[in-house]
Amino acid sequence: MKADSHGEATAINPVAATLDLLGDRLSLALLGHAFVSGTTRFNQWLDLTGAPPSVLTGRLHALVDAGVLRRSPRLGASDRHEYLLTDLGNDTWQILVGIWGWQREWTPEGAWQPDLVHTTCGHRGPAAVMCQDCGATVASNDTDIEMDARTVWTVTSGARRRSTRGPALDAPQADMQFNAVMEALGDRWSGAITGLALSGARRFGEFRSALDISPTTLTDRLTRLCDAEILTRPAGAHREYRLTPRGRALFGVFVFLIRWSIRAYPDAPSPLRIIHRACGSLLTPVLRCRGCDEPVDRTTARVESVAARPTSP
Ligand SMILES: [Zn+2]
Ligand SMILES: [Zn+2]
Repeated sequence: MKADSHGEATAINPVAATLDLLGDRLSLALLGHAFVSGTTRFNQWLDLTGAPPSVLTGRLHALVDAGVLRRSPRLGASDRHEYLLTDLGNDTWQILVGIWGWQREWTPEGAWQPDLVHTTCGHRGPAAVMCQDCGATVASNDTDIEMDARTVWTVTSGARRRSTRGPALDAPQADMQFNAVMEALGDRWSGAITGLALSGARRFGEFRSALDISPTTLTDRLTRLCDAEILTRPAGAHREYRLTPRGRALFGVFVFLIRWSIRAYPDAPSPLRIIHRACGSLLTPVLRCRGCDEPVDRTTARVESVAARPTSP
């Protein structure tokens, strides 16, 4: 797997590396178009996203380096290569489905999100999370999240991450669909703070001791997460932050990000374990159809874009 930005053989933090790679609206948009429209070519993504070509090239290379896409020669006038999803790339489907489902339920732009359709029963709409081992539906308060706080967020390369307040310069109109989730994922500190909150952290001091972060930056990110209505400050509690229902629902995105990080970085110890309390097993999350309660995967479901979305020429 990819070395860090300095090329040193330092330990990769799988969760931080995953947030660095996928906590990026353009990378998510590229994968989203691949899943929804079967996009494989540079010029198609260029038209769909309107991203500057150099930025698009950078993201495609990062996804190839991470083993998410593979480049394949192509006989064609406009594109000499196409970029195909690898098995690891196909495994990001649950993450995208989780993000679209969350935005559909919890954001004003919900109606513009691609819709999950369970083809075997016809149900349309966001999926639930289920434990593969015992078959129960799982929410954040059904789990214990064990985090190795000392190693979690200190070794990330993360140099590429930038502030995401407001639309980023490389976020053209077509990719505004990831605006809301970027408040929680689009910056490794925000991602780490949301993850810590999901694991039960509430007090400023708890976040501070778990993260290698300055108090000023921590205050800034906590304020942003409150502005984004992912966290809230209970009245009367000093420097305490709790997840809103909207923030808690991000569990359906984080579980698949964490599962994917373990798959993507098999040689790096995962700093994070999610235990399903009822059955005691390490949670292997699966999407579950809310219509028929059966598991949903790419072979039994499709993702439909709304008609108003731009289409490939
Ligand atoms: Zn279970
Ligand atoms: Zn169904």
